[in-house]
Amino acid sequence: MATLKETLEQNTREGELWERIADRSVGKDWLRCYACGHECPIPDGQAGVCKVRFNRGGRLYVPWGYAAGIQCDPIEKKPFHHAWPGGLAYSFGMLGCDLHCSYCQNWVTSQALRDPAAVSRPMSATPAEMAREAVELGAKVLVSTYNEPLITAEWAVAVFREAKKAGLATGFVSNGNATPQVLEYLRPWVDLYKVDLKSFDDRHYRQLGGRLEPILRTIRSLHERGFWVEIVTLLIPGFNDSDDELRRLTEFVASVSPFIPWHVTAFHKDYKMNDPANTTPEMLTHAAEIGRAAGLKYIYAGNLPGRVGDLENTRCHACRELLIERYGYLITGYHLTPEGACPRCATKIPGRWGAKFEGQITERQFVPSRGARRASQLFVVR
Ligand code: SF4
Repeated sequence: MATLKETLEQNTREGELWERIADRSVGKDWLRCYACGHECPIPDGQAGVCKVRFNRGGRLYVPWGYAAGIQCDPIEKKPFHHAWPGGLAYSFGMLGCDLHCSYCQNWVTSQALRDPAAVSRPMSATPAEMAREAVELGAKVLVSTYNEPLITAEWAVAVFREAKKAGLATGFVSNGNATPQVLEYLRPWVDLYKVDLKSFDDRHYRQLGGRLEPILRTIRSLHERGFWVEIVTLLIPGFNDSDDELRRLTEFVASVSPFIPWHVTAFHKDYKMNDPANTTPEMLTHAAEIGRAAGLKYIYAGNLPGRVGDLENTRCHACRELLIERYGYLITGYHLTPEGACPRCATKIPGRWGAKFEGQITERQFVPSRGARRASQLFVVR
């Protein structure tokens, strides 16, 4: 029986986001990976920081041919609030991450190769099969999520090629630690891009295993390249919730575009971060006020349904007309025109809208009921 590491090494193929390091002083057969902002130089026989991309004989091998989780979510859970409200997001993840956040809410998949407590079994999958199932289930969007999708970008593009053929939109739920090369590679295939902007303090990012600057560069670049971008900040008391940090963070987002939706969401104790108190509705409301003062037009408070007043709803940025009403992930009212405009003042609302609200298949996540087939696709690992 193979270990998880051995199983993942078998489920690979040569990647596209790398180049040979010409400087022979670093050693023979070194290469550099460009899938994320670490831009790892990798010697032959070694893996990068993410542990899932590795150099074998001077060529980069990347994850391929499996999923470590497939689930259907309401699109509001990703969260995207300005893209086909109520749409079903067929979501898949692989394993591994380039960061190691101690409060990760997807740690079972993201930290599977670092933490023996994170047990997650991969199953074989094909892009065509996933796109077909998404269509059969009535999904609007196919999303790469749960682990960091940048580090498995080649597989995501293979899946998204099939999704596009099937008429689906596509999305990334990412920490934003990207490079210009990977964004160029993704641009033809990714419609929606959510970035976790975890802090505005480089020291905090270094605690999580990253740096602030590549994330900010990614946000600017995504907007310039025409991806639909929404940003999320998980508000952690004592970590990233000072007024000064929130002011600088929201002023940065507003400087890219005041129309980028900013979701400020409530922390609950998870994984290894058990010290901070849970975020209260008052903390979210206060953060939203700071964002509003910075000039942001669309601010949402998440993870505390029914406890944050109007901060779950969408209002017109010009006349404050109520456009979309929500309770948690449930759409309770939809009033946009077929052109995606305010019915009162005709202002176009930034986002990706359908001609009409098409109802909501689910307000909560579910695992597609292909249990028997899925069980036979699980790899046996120890
Ligand atoms: S994806 Fe990032 S962490 Fe992984 S090998 Fe490439 S540059 Fe390194």
